[in-house]
Amino acid sequence: MRLILLGSPGAGKGTQAKFITEKYQIPQISTGDILRRAITEGTELGNQAKMIVECGKLVPDEIMIVLVKERIKQPDCASGFLLDGFPRTVAQAEALHQLSDIDYVIDIDVPDQEIIQRLTGRRIHPASGRIYHLIYQPPRNPGLDDATNEPLIQRKDDQEDTVRKRLEIYHAQTSPLREYYKNYTTQNHTTIPKYVRIDGAASVETIKEQIFERLDTLGR
Ligand code: AMP
Repeated sequence: MRLILLGSPGAGKGTQAKFITEKYQIPQISTGDILRRAITEGTELGNQAKMIVECGKLVPDEIMIVLVKERIKQPDCASGFLLDGFPRTVAQAEALHQLSDIDYVIDIDVPDQEIIQRLTGRRIHPASGRIYHLIYQPPRNPGLDDATNEPLIQRKDDQEDTVRKRLEIYHAQTSPLREYYKNYTTQNHTTIPKYVRIDGAASVETIKEQIFERLDTLGR
């Protein structure tokens, strides 16, 4: 089970990734999480990526491709993996398909206006990664994590001007991947990734059910 989750920032890829990886017992590879961890730890990768991530631009393809190449070589990826946030450019996709076959591409499609509302209201508990939303999923005490009572933060790249920039970059560089996967033809590989489009404006539960249903049907 090797999957890619496509969709704009804030489409709900991370949320759905958790359900899918639990059901299929495969690791979630979130390139955004890997970069944020590297930034917090102050590693060389983190220092290279910090400014780029904080202003919502894309980290260069060469860096991302090496990072994913090393990650999918790890033993826990032997029976599959889910890529969340990679590929984000056609060049990344082409490099990925040199490294591995992919079985499914799940594209979660959400209108920009909804993305802006979702992302600018998002708050995070940095230590656990727990996610809240000022309107849709507020914490019990404003500004504090339910379990620990520690302060929640807003990611710098969730501020409105940065969100708009991330969406622009998404439309320019990542959304061409939709056509890429709809028209995918194999070169050296035997597996053609099955492209699944999901309406991401629905509820979390509905989206989850739709994804599982499509994967079940296509897997038969
Ligand atoms: P995400 O959490 O997936 O929205 O990623 C947060 C940020 O990390 C993005 O806005 C980019 O700056 C960077 N990033 C994550 N994945 C990639 C990728 N595949 N290519 C380039 N930059 C990435």
